[in-house]
Amino acid sequence: MMPIVKHIVQSAVPAISRVLCRRCQPCEALLACEHKTIIRIEPEDMPWVDASRCFGCRACLATCRYGAVHIVKECPQKG
Ligand code: SF4
Ligand code: SF4
Repeated sequence: MMPIVKHIVQSAVPAISRVLCRRCQPCEALLACEHKTIIRIEPEDMPWVDASRCFGCRACLATCRYGAVHIVKECPQKG
């Protein structure tokens, strides 16, 4: 049986849209994440969310002026 709490936490993990992201310098969403969950390797790269480190606090959501950070409605259900 799938743990309900685990499912809720997974569904709250945000993602960054490849279409909407403008690759800002700096990325306000990245700066807003106190857990350093939003990663950017090279300055010109699009940032991405390391879901394994995300607490689902949603602090990053309102920071992106282009609406590129969003909650993924449908998440894969893991074993
Ligand atoms: S996520 Fe938003 S703030 Fe960050 S680089 Fe993309 S568009 Fe800019
Ligand atoms: S939801 Fe919270 S922990 Fe996850 S990426 Fe956004 S600010 Fe970071």
